[in-house]
Amino acid sequence: MSTSSITERRDLRTGTPVWNVETSGEISVEPLIAPSKADVVVVGAGISGALVAEAATARGLSVIVLDRRQPGHGSTAASTALLQFEIDTPLIELADMIGHAQASRAWMRSFRAVQDLAILVRRLNLHCDFRPRRALYLSGNRLGPTELAKEGRLRRAIGLPSSFLNSSDLRNIAGLIRPAALLSEGAADVNPVALTRGLLLRALNRGSRLYSPAQLAEVVARSDKVEMVTSAGFELEAKAVVFATGYELAAGVPAKGHRRSSTWAFSTRPQRQTTWGEGQLIWEAADPYLYIRTTADRRIIVGGEDEALNDETARHALLPAKVHALQGKIRHLLPWIDATADFAWAGTFGESEDGLPSIGRLPDLPNCYAVLGYGGNGITFSVIAAQILVEALCDGNDPDAEIFAFRA
Ligand SMILES: Cc1cc2nc3c(=O)[nH]c(=O)nc-3n(C[C@H](O)[C@H](O)[C@H](O)COP(=O)(O)OP(=O)(O)OC[C@H]3O[C@@H](n4cnc5c(N)ncnc54)[C@H](O)[C@@H]3O)c2cc1C
Repeated sequence: MSTSSITERRDLRTGTPVWNVETSGEISVEPLIAPSKADVVVVGAGISGALVAEAATARGLSVIVLDRRQPGHGSTAASTALLQFEIDTPLIELADMIGHAQASRAWMRSFRAVQDLAILVRRLNLHCDFRPRRALYLSGNRLGPTELAKEGRLRRAIGLPSSFLNSSDLRNIAGLIRPAALLSEGAADVNPVALTRGLLLRALNRGSRLYSPAQLAEVVARSDKVEMVTSAGFELEAKAVVFATGYELAAGVPAKGHRRSSTWAFSTRPQRQTTWGEGQLIWEAADPYLYIRTTADRRIIVGGEDEALNDETARHALLPAKVHALQGKIRHLLPWIDATADFAWAGTFGESEDGLPSIGRLPDLPNCYAVLGYGGNGITFSVIAAQILVEALCDGNDPDAEIFAFRA
């Protein structure tokens, strides 16, 4: 394969994620060895590309998916996969940034996305350890108890199921010692690699083609079609292309307001005793925040310690120290658990200024679309992206498209 690529190249993750990425139920892929044509070419077979491919084939579009890695081996394999409607930017802050009406719609759409994913997983009978959860948002240096109470009131006023817990409620519900928290219904967790494979398999069953390794090198966007060339020199033609390339930005995709950083995570061994409460997702109103979840096989995954670091070698070198710091935090919060690390990994991460993703048509490239699901709930954003993009590909208009659109 030649090295030319339409996207930058990153070492998206190092270390060993808990998801058994290399061995669990590989999906069959084929090399691209001839020119190909479809309604839509999806570049990237992570969770974003898989959701788009599933949704597009469900609407009867013919789809080609290509990835220069194995499907699901990019950032998706590093994801801790807490599925939350709670956007990194609290509703009280987002309302100040973009206005109450727009902020409420973004939050409500995020809530609906997690519920829609639950329905999709059930309808397609995907075996991916999808588990409905409640979520605890602990007070921290970003929102203290007073602001958290205000955040809870604002959320409830627009119909979101978040309720305020004082310190004794929190201790009773989950055994955690913190001044306050918000408890929210409607979250979930999942095995992101199994979810991605399940979605891709459904798309393949509907006639989609999945080429890997196949790297997109060039794109010529015309008013009636998009012509593409892979690094191996094969030509592709489609009515539209969707860049679902995660944190490896494609040329022509505006990166305004987005920044890449580094994040670290580890998983414990399966716990012998009760974890906390009912195993709610836990995260903090803090910067940087700690986030915690359990897995179907009773492990605890802990992540956070994010830093504005873009050097992947330095990021990996920090892994032992970061795991040590995360262990210290979780031992402080949950002193009774076994915090021994069984898996540990580091990854590139992306955030946006307002905590919202960028989704939609690219301003300067006709018939080209992209999803940048940057933020702590990138998977929730990928669900929204698949809905908005496939509506656009079918000449419809999603009522929330404008909120997440790329700006010229
Ligand atoms: C440690 C960590 C923890 C996280 N935790 C959470 C969480 O708890 N909850 C949550 O919702 N989100 C979380 N996220 C974010 C979430 O994982 C990401 O938003 C999501 O995985 C991105 O998926 P993607 O499909 O967009 O990107 P990827 O999975 O990276 O897929 C993009 C694919 O595009 C391919 N590609 C790139 N360029 C080309 C090219 N030129 N030609 C062909 N293929 C190409 C790549 O090979 C890659 O496979 C976390 C992320 C990390 C790193």
